[in-house]
Amino acid sequence: MTDQNDDLLGDHMQAWSMTVDRFITHAARWNGQHELVSRQADGSIARSTWEATARRARQLSSVLAEAGIRPGDRIATMAMNSARHVEAWYGIMGYGAVCHTLNPRLFEEQLVYIINHAADRWLVADPQFAPLIEKLRPRCPTLERVVYLCGPAGLPAAAGAADYESLIEGRPVDVPWGTVGEHAPAALCYTSGTTGHPKGVLYSHRSQVLHALICAQRDTMGMSVTDSVLAVVPMFHANAWALPFTAAATGAKFVLPGARLDGASLYELLETEGVTLSAAVPTVWQGLLDYLTTNGLRLKTLRRVIIGGSAVTEGLIRGFRDGHGVEVLHAWGMTEMSPIGTISGAPPPAVGAMDDDTRLAFNLKQGRTPFGIDMKITDDDGVRLAQDGVAQGHVRVQGPAIIARYFREAEQVLDAEGYFDTGDIATIDPHGYMQITDRAKDVIKSGGEWISSVEIENVAASHPKALMAAVIGVPHPRWRERPHLIVQLRPGQQATPAEFLDWLDGKIAKWWMPDGVLFVDEMPLGATGKLDKKVLRARYAEAATVRD
Ligand code: AMP
Repeated sequence: MTDQNDDLLGDHMQAWSMTVDRFITHAARWNGQHELVSRQADGSIARSTWEATARRARQLSSVLAEAGIRPGDRIATMAMNSARHVEAWYGIMGYGAVCHTLNPRLFEEQLVYIINHAADRWLVADPQFAPLIEKLRPRCPTLERVVYLCGPAGLPAAAGAADYESLIEGRPVDVPWGTVGEHAPAALCYTSGTTGHPKGVLYSHRSQVLHALICAQRDTMGMSVTDSVLAVVPMFHANAWALPFTAAATGAKFVLPGARLDGASLYELLETEGVTLSAAVPTVWQGLLDYLTTNGLRLKTLRRVIIGGSAVTEGLIRGFRDGHGVEVLHAWGMTEMSPIGTISGAPPPAVGAMDDDTRLAFNLKQGRTPFGIDMKITDDDGVRLAQDGVAQGHVRVQGPAIIARYFREAEQVLDAEGYFDTGDIATIDPHGYMQITDRAKDVIKSGGEWISSVEIENVAASHPKALMAAVIGVPHPRWRERPHLIVQLRPGQQATPAEFLDWLDGKIAKWWMPDGVLFVDEMPLGATGKLDKKVLRARYAEAATVRD
């Protein structure tokens, strides 16, 4: 007689491998006529569908196969968000090559380093980047070919470049997809690398699929086939927070703004395309809100905005909520996390029952972890700290879409429990909300205690005259470091340091009061729109006016 456990082999369910091409194959088959709408370089609008996007992506895969690109080879893209860029993603990844998104805002030196480190074979790019690419090319010997995302008429006069439309025209669509298996690499993205060389994060098909499913959950982004989704966050900024995958998975209408991210252009797209859900960094949204206020305009269809990449201000939440009835989903994450880690949207019942202002305070936090991510805060020695909303510690994370090892590095970057140290400092409250208080490298240590630069920045930025605020630590003989506040005022505004110190008074601990206030014309921003505190420290620390 056979043992009753004999038939417990793992083949009772289908081995449906989780490769990203599944998303667009599904979109093409079940929501094929739903639209992709792209803003083109000349400002005009191009319309496509999920069916056409899938078909053209397959044609690109055929081109790659015929050109001798092997699965696993890296193909770079340097492009703003457009349907063609989405086709390139799926054409590259579906075929089994690795899609390496390049951020055109990086310094030339960094781009050269990244392209050589990745050994990119092809570069698929928007024509607007031709001058930059021509400068990079002689220093990137692995680059065999540059393909511009345009037709023959739009092809830049660069030597040996091909135009995408001519390349894919008439190519077969029966190239096999997803043959590499779910553990194969699908995409590569380098961290912006404010110190040292940029580091590569190599995502697998499986990690990308699971991450997109994590994002699609109701309490994360909650995307639906009824949505019209405007992806403002660039596809080179941590995979546009998975939007090209989640939009395809749900079959939502997908709107892509190209290079025009100013308030007027975004407003026009939001209204004419009936956008219901969108995602971008705070500076872009501030630009839109300012434009709406100046012109007395109201958003009619937008329901939810995902804001992440840096902290959301109270003004932004109120501006969207009170001015336009739009809910803000405050998201936190990083390239190493694919990128979503937490999101502060729909509150759990205990928080939902609180009054408006208290709920807003929770919305300002970076949010709760969805299923698929686990998180802890620890002290410097890795010992777990209480989740009481008070204890601040290093944020460490674990999950199927979180880095274990950087590309081409031997060592894993995990602690003894298998968690990755994000480099952020935060509290976690009893409702599960995580709140970033600093980057570990920006923490201000004064008299042996930590001062949260982020908290002071939030209060300072809520001053009506402030556009942006930054707090940096300046060396101090007695306290080791003291906070100094740097403010960029709204256009046309004038202010004195005393006005800002009075504003902070009573809103932050006395010993956190900045020793100096300095006004600057423009904050230095990094390649993904984040404040570059390293530059600020170097440039302004000495110039900071010291309070008497
Ligand atoms: P990157 O990998 O370039 O996207 O940078 C990730 C870093 O951006 C995180 O480790 C945080 O320090 C910061 N960051 C991202 N989202 C937020 C947010 N919502 N609030 C504060 N900081 C954020």
